[in-house]
Amino acid sequence: MLIELTPSGLYCSAGDFYIDPQAPVRRAIITHAHTDHAKPGSDAYLTSRSGKPLVQQRVGLRAKVESLEFGEEIEIRGVKVSLHPAGHILGSTQVRIEYHGEIWVVSGDYKLEPDATCETFEHVKCHTFITESTFAKPHYKWKAQTEIFNQINDWWQMNSLWGTTSLIGAYSLGKAQRVLAGLDPGIGPIMVYPTVEKFLPAYKAAGISFPEILPFNETTIAEIREKRPLIIAPPQFARVDAEKKFGAVASAFASGWMSKGGLHSKIHDRGFALSDHADWEGLLAAIKATEAENIFVMHGFTNTLVNHLRSIGYNAHVIGATQRVQPAAEHSLPE
Ligand SMILES: [Zn+2]
Repeated sequence: MLIELTPSGLYCSAGDFYIDPQAPVRRAIITHAHTDHAKPGSDAYLTSRSGKPLVQQRVGLRAKVESLEFGEEIEIRGVKVSLHPAGHILGSTQVRIEYHGEIWVVSGDYKLEPDATCETFEHVKCHTFITESTFAKPHYKWKAQTEIFNQINDWWQMNSLWGTTSLIGAYSLGKAQRVLAGLDPGIGPIMVYPTVEKFLPAYKAAGISFPEILPFNETTIAEIREKRPLIIAPPQFARVDAEKKFGAVASAFASGWMSKGGLHSKIHDRGFALSDHADWEGLLAAIKATEAENIFVMHGFTNTLVNHLRSIGYNAHVIGATQRVQPAAEHSLPE
């Protein structure tokens, strides 16, 4: 086993490094900057060049974070390591590991649909593929993002006509920026919550452009509240908080969990099923393209995917936590 699951996370003993460790370790390779993957306290981190500023924000400005360009190869104790785009959020990476001719790829979180706010997923051939399975149920099938963005912009325009401010909930890193990039600034003013705004410099440094946003402060809010802005904010900024500042508010949430009714149908007026994870067909397409004979499945509906893969001839196993139930709260699961 070139990579095994230990209490601290995925571990490559030949190279003596961890991938997305859940506890402090000596050397950590980080697939992306979501909090369930990038934990503080390790001695040294390695991630992609474009993901580095985001990972640095997560693990602390004083932490040692090194980076690689996508496709650049280094050797760690004789193990060849390279990073390849995962298409999940800016800088998100798959980790390719080669040792004595044997190749493993760890996917991290990924999606296949091109996204204006991150690098596009790269298919990497390997002998063993460790895949996520967040939405590994056959009924998860995403619509094209252009359709979702049209729905969001139409919803915003309609709210605006009715004299209502629009609040769209989205996880602060990744989803919020993707929603922002898809907005039509011709409809009205746009504001983003400070926890969203703090990540924008890293995106702009990577050459990603966004519609103009207004600063989220009391002065600006007083000036523009009659213009019915759209606000992008994480779940902790609820509709009741927005109503205190903006008056009448319509709220929505953007997440893959919004498909089939979603968790927030009782909380929000609308749900937009925009996910940064592969849907069922996407997972199967990614797995097939690796040409791997061994598949390890983690992070999600593991048993469903393993059982299906076995039925079509793969040597598939669950690695780590067993079948997950849908999370109790949207913000418990970064997308
Ligand atoms: Zn993630």
